[in-house]
Amino acid sequence: MKKIDLKDFTFPQLTNFISELGLPAFRAKQIFSWLYRPDIHDFEQMTDLSKELRATLAEKCLISSLTPATKEISKDGTVKYGFRLDDEMMIESVLIPEETRNTLCVSSQVGCAMGCRFCLTGTMGFKRNLRPAEIVNQVMAAMTDMAADNKGRLTNLVFMGMGEPLANFDNLIDSLEILMDQRGLDFSSRKITVSTCGLVPRIRELGERVGVNLAISLHSANDKTRSQLMPVNDTYAVDELLNACRHDFPMAKRRRIMFEYTLFEGINDSLSDAKELARKLHGIRCKINLLSYNPCESLPYHSPSRKKIEAFQKVLQDAGYSAFIRTSRGADISAACGQLAKKNDGEQ
Ligand code: SF4
Repeated sequence: MKKIDLKDFTFPQLTNFISELGLPAFRAKQIFSWLYRPDIHDFEQMTDLSKELRATLAEKCLISSLTPATKEISKDGTVKYGFRLDDEMMIESVLIPEETRNTLCVSSQVGCAMGCRFCLTGTMGFKRNLRPAEIVNQVMAAMTDMAADNKGRLTNLVFMGMGEPLANFDNLIDSLEILMDQRGLDFSSRKITVSTCGLVPRIRELGERVGVNLAISLHSANDKTRSQLMPVNDTYAVDELLNACRHDFPMAKRRRIMFEYTLFEGINDSLSDAKELARKLHGIRCKINLLSYNPCESLPYHSPSRKKIEAFQKVLQDAGYSAFIRTSRGADISAACGQLAKKNDGEQ
């Protein structure tokens, strides 16, 4: 009989499971709190449960965890973890330490079906969705590693690793509920950002169900250009995506949607591209992150000059937007945006 991974359960789901075992609801609270302590790997360690209950749980259930199979550290301090899953598939998470915060970039799928042309994960194709436990365990593994290295506290989570989070919607929502549960890891929704390439029908539901921050991988406000870069644009065009951001995503006061815009030389980096972007974002409470493309041998794109990026930024700023030029982190260890692509054929 396959054992049940208790870390796949949100607290209400665990409460149901516990009641199906004929146990009182308060047991769920005890067990849930134990599960999200980094040093707990065995039901025997749950000392406030009876011996019989510990034995029953051990017979039917398991407590999963992830330990890094690989760990690479960039010269800028960025850390890339590679995790081997039960079926030997590999995923990656990236820890980005900064002065005032430590952010983990989390994966939501093995590979990705969205096929963005500039993204190495996209070139892998889709392998499978991650379970809630596999998402949460990336976070717990990074926290454990940071504690061992005296690297401080993990403060922020961004779902910008491998995969399109909104294409693994149910597991994403469950993992977010687990991560934000005060009985467990207790991350604030303000400290979590979910990034999508633009799966419009899920945008409203994401905001209504979990209230996290939303980031959009936009990369062009022009349908022709965006479709060339991102096939998803053939299904959900720019105006439809931006209208969902403008009208459908419920947002607390003072929060803003983050638009990610990677500049590719000669493709989306002209002043008229910037003007079109400024025009199309009108009426959306947002900020814009401009990133220079990280060149990669197997893809036919190049990064524009700094001067060109600054000129692009100025157009946006003159139009009243908060537009920031972000420096890529971890490019030397292939940990920067669009560079995550663990081989899944057993080779590392
Ligand atoms: S950019 Fe994101 S959505 Fe697009 S292929 Fe890569 S992982 Fe998938």
